[in-house]
Amino acid sequence: IFMRLSGKTAVVTGGARGLGAHMCQMFAAEGAQVIAVDLGEMTYSDKGVEYYQLNITDAEGRKKFFAGTIEKYGKIDILVNNAGITRDAMTRKMTDEMWDIVIDVDLKGLFNLTRYIGPQMEANGQGAIVNISSVVGEYGNIGQANYAAAKAGVIGLTKTWAKEFARKGAAVRVNCIAPGYTMTDMLKTVPQELLDKFAAMTMLGRLGQPEEIASAALFLVSDEASYITGQVLSVNGGMRL
Ligand code: NAD
Repeated sequence: IFMRLSGKTAVVTGGARGLGAHMCQMFAAEGAQVIAVDLGEMTYSDKGVEYYQLNITDAEGRKKFFAGTIEKYGKIDILVNNAGITRDAMTRKMTDEMWDIVIDVDLKGLFNLTRYIGPQMEANGQGAIVNISSVVGEYGNIGQANYAAAKAGVIGLTKTWAKEFARKGAAVRVNCIAPGYTMTDMLKTVPQELLDKFAAMTMLGRLGQPEEIASAALFLVSDEASYITGQVLSVNGGMRL
């Protein structure tokens, strides 16, 4: 049977649960060898998915992970930068710690991991990167200045890397998904009445399911998207914040 990711090595950060877990399992089902990178514990088991414990803000850990993965698999073909956190507060109440940790994980962590893996793809002549931004990075949101800044930054990185990693002719594509509100642990801190309001703000009248984000990621990393790069795909049921 035809599998879309046969022979590919895929790294998914934040792959232990939530959106990342769905991506890992979907990629493995399409024939990829998947490495789920996460600082938290694994929440499922799948023979095509290997768990690697790493906090993406840890410089030594990142180096060790990259060197070890290249030694073991020879190359990384697919990277999904999905790990992310929120620490919400109104701007006047936002502490330095809340600002710093969200920028450190959602923006700097993503940059620092990709600064190894992107150039490796370039040297290898091919690769696909998907960065996970957010509807909040596109439109802003009350109480999420740190997160909106980081997620808007992810869009800038996507467009920059799409140019940089392909500039010498390598078939390296870099795209971004901006999910709307999707049912995962990340929404546990959001009050139900706000979730209802967000659902009502979509054209489809509901929140997203993790599979609906994962299948967009699968499309973008597969050869079906071979002429798509530098784009932001908004997967949000038709939402405008
Ligand atoms: P989640 O909290 O369920 O999963 C996030 C995963 O990332 C967790 O497994 C966590 O342990 C891991 N992680 C966090 N910090 C890490 C670090 N420093 N190093 C390694 N791993 C780390 O959340 P989710 O909803 O699955 O979110 C996945 C991505 O999608 C995030 O980037 C999030 O900002 C984005 N997003 C989510 C939604 C939504 O509504 N769920 C909407 C838009 C964007």
